[in-house]
Amino acid sequence: MTAVPVVIGMRAPRTEPASHAAGLTGGLVDTHGRVHRDLRISLTDRCSLRCTYCMPEQGNEWLARTSILSTDEIVEVAEVAAALGIRTFRLTGGEPLLRTDIVDVVRRIARIEGEEGPVEVAMTTNGISLAQKLPALIDAGLTRLNISIDTVDRQRFADLTRRDRLDDVFAGIEAAAASSLRPLKLNAVAMRGVNDDELVDLVEFAMGVGAQLRFIEQMPLDAGHTWDRASMVTREEILASLGERWHLEPVEGRGGAPAEKWRIDGGPHEVGVIASVTAPFCGACDRLRLTADGQLRNCLFSLAEYDLTGLLRGESASAPGQRADEIAALLRSCVHGKLPGHAIDDPSFLQPARGMNAIGG
Ligand code: SF4
Repeated sequence: MTAVPVVIGMRAPRTEPASHAAGLTGGLVDTHGRVHRDLRISLTDRCSLRCTYCMPEQGNEWLARTSILSTDEIVEVAEVAAALGIRTFRLTGGEPLLRTDIVDVVRRIARIEGEEGPVEVAMTTNGISLAQKLPALIDAGLTRLNISIDTVDRQRFADLTRRDRLDDVFAGIEAAAASSLRPLKLNAVAMRGVNDDELVDLVEFAMGVGAQLRFIEQMPLDAGHTWDRASMVTREEILASLGERWHLEPVEGRGGAPAEKWRIDGGPHEVGVIASVTAPFCGACDRLRLTADGQLRNCLFSLAEYDLTGLLRGESASAPGQRADEIAALLRSCVHGKLPGHAIDDPSFLQPARGMNAIGG
């Protein structure tokens, strides 16, 4: 086993790039030529809401608390990933703000230097408790925020999320809008018969707070496995609905971003659509995922997982600081095994056993 002096757990100064210490070189390139730059880290599968399209009201099977990666373990993996070319770490859940050490997680990842400079730390959140925590998160190094909001109607929010917390979400969005973090993105899953009559209202709300609304086609990732293609609101339907209100002009230069964007009435406001089902963008995918219980995934819809906990814990694990090469090898195996796309339309498609809350968005 190769001994590698990776420095972990430091608060200051910035951590040395793991590649300098370990001789780790080369990016995370899959067999289809896609270079991976984005690692989404799920910090917990718990959530403060119970959205009907994501979780059952009761009886959800939660990850064992002892299985959740510690901050030291997350930072150790992130340092190796940064040395292999990951530039953006997006913290997700479940709801990442439920993690009691969230500020420490952000601070320690933000101090990692990649080969091309400091990494970015982004977060996707439901906004609840964001107003209280945002100053400390920004001070710790958070650089970008996506906030989920599927409706701006109080009763509808309570019905959809099974929690009457819309005011808390509004407070989080207001705090984000008043902060320095830009661009500020709001995410809404478009659902037939639920909020498809509210698409214009959601965009107007976003414009009012200086944010960009991004509609997401609903994907077969619900914990209850109840997804039905017929009830999904498609990209074309979203654009048709918005097009009745505004002139939409495509924004060029999407790159590997999930969202296609349109300029609203000549700008400056824009709206995005993440059409994962009807217009997949897998050919430009640069994302990997790490679940809260230490499983690497190369795709949202992957049926395979690559277990990091065997390297980080247990009797056969090398000592911290001596296993960067092993973590790098597992990251490379995960990337190597990535399929060209999600194949939702293939008759043989199987929904992953994990729900979205246990994968990380
Ligand atoms: S479905 Fe998988 S391969 Fe396609 S963009 Fe999403 S994560 Fe990437």
